[in-house]
Amino acid sequence: MNVPFLNLPYQYSALREEILSAIDRLSQQGFFTLGAEVEAFEREFAKFSGLPYAVAVNSGTSALHLALLAARVGPGDEVITTSNTFGATVEAILYTGARPVFADIDPHTANLDPAKAAAAVTGRTRAILPVHLYGRPAAMDEFARLARERNITLVEDACQAHGARHHGKPVGDFSLASAFSFYPTKNLGAYGEGGAVVTADAEVAELIRSLRNHGQRGRYVYDRLGYNYRMEAFQAAILRIKLRWIEQWTEHRRQIGELYRERLANARLEMPADDPESRPVYHAFAIYVDRRDEVRQKLKAKGIQTAVYYSTPLHFQKAFAHFGSGQGSLPATERACSRVLCLPISPELTFEQAEYVADHLVEIVGRNA
Ligand SMILES: *Cc1c(COP(=O)(O)O)cnc(C)c1O
Repeated sequence: MNVPFLNLPYQYSALREEILSAIDRLSQQGFFTLGAEVEAFEREFAKFSGLPYAVAVNSGTSALHLALLAARVGPGDEVITTSNTFGATVEAILYTGARPVFADIDPHTANLDPAKAAAAVTGRTRAILPVHLYGRPAAMDEFARLARERNITLVEDACQAHGARHHGKPVGDFSLASAFSFYPTKNLGAYGEGGAVVTADAEVAELIRSLRNHGQRGRYVYDRLGYNYRMEAFQAAILRIKLRWIEQWTEHRRQIGELYRERLANARLEMPADDPESRPVYHAFAIYVDRRDEVRQKLKAKGIQTAVYYSTPLHFQKAFAHFGSGQGSLPATERACSRVLCLPISPELTFEQAEYVADHLVEIVGRNA
């Protein structure tokens, strides 16, 4: 059997007519950036996210940058975050002129550990930026308490967590502003780049609307230094079509996740614990195994594609290492990165394929005695 990690062309085949006609309609109207299509997507994505405002931008990285600017993060400030994430989390902090401060993850969840974050707070800490890694919500109510007690702003990296919930609230609702990505492989993916900032604060939404469009208030009135972070109308149209499917796709991901959990329960590997009061959306299904690369090769020999997010933590990367404290400074992160393996879990994956993956994996790693 052949099990691809993702199959975006297959997803397109079901949506092709609708997507082609939306692109044709916009081309005939001559609307290519921002405008009515982007505004309609913003309303629909805000509703889906359970927050009053969504501001669409050109990438998740831009969304993070603007969310941090809205939190008044700037030079001289520190922002506490995880090293077990995509580089954009830390790039966005550096774009503001602030300094990233790495705190370790909770080994049971792979997300930023609130106790480790609390220990990293200094007089310069302006914000904490937890990441909902693999679509599994970070311990946001604990971060919210910490932020209140220490007078720190929260910003969420929800780039992998469309539709995730934590303790009765949607992700994004715990902080001043949250960033989502619509990179093609994300749970909600554009046909190119895209992102959004979601917020409950009307002033923050207004500020971000201005920042993404050259700092303008109205046309050719520049109130502040801004950016060209506008979303393209084609991407908004494609995202609107896909948004109608995301709940169904997410349910499928969750069922595959359950199947993996059941079939792998006794296998000689670790799976991060899910909080029973959270709704993870399984952007990825991560397991942790010894001799990860060998296991990966053996799965590949059976036709099973896997991925490794992320094999090298950010505090070991040349671009960011000088903000960290080197080998051994974040032991849970370092252990997770050396052992993580992500199994296929896309909406296109069949249950038969998932069973095939799980059964071969058990055969390769063995069962606990
Ligand atoms: C994808 C991603 C980003 C960046 O999003 P882009 O749209 O690729 O710029 C940031 N953080 C995390 C955790 C991501 O997965």
